[in-house]
Amino acid sequence: MNRRLDIIGEDATAIVKPIREPRVIVQAISEVDILDDGYRWWKYGQKVVQGNPNPRSYYKCTNAGCAVRKHIERASHDPKAIITTYEGKHNHNVPTAKPSSQETGVPPDAPPA
Ligand SMILES: [Zn+2]
Repeated sequence: MNRRLDIIGEDATAIVKPIREPRVIVQAISEVDILDDGYRWWKYGQKVVQGNPNPRSYYKCTNAGCAVRKHIERASHDPKAIITTYEGKHNHNVPTAKPSSQETGVPPDAPPA
């Protein structure tokens, strides 16, 4: 029996052209635009991209000498979904934050089916 490999995501234009920096795309369901990933960021821009009514925000790592950038946009097909794209790799550890009370990431508003 001959089985083809299933190819999903054929329209993944993001990986078509070679990019020097590794690119990581994270999609999450979130009410807030900014997902706390442990690093500190400053916003340096915002623009509207084609095909998405929601503006895309651009951030850069605040660590001196670190060139990691990310941009965040709300998915056009799902207003609850936040898509974060990271470019580059941090050359430092996650900044140590003060002890957080949010150890568990379980949303309180998730009733059992
Ligand atoms: Zn960094």
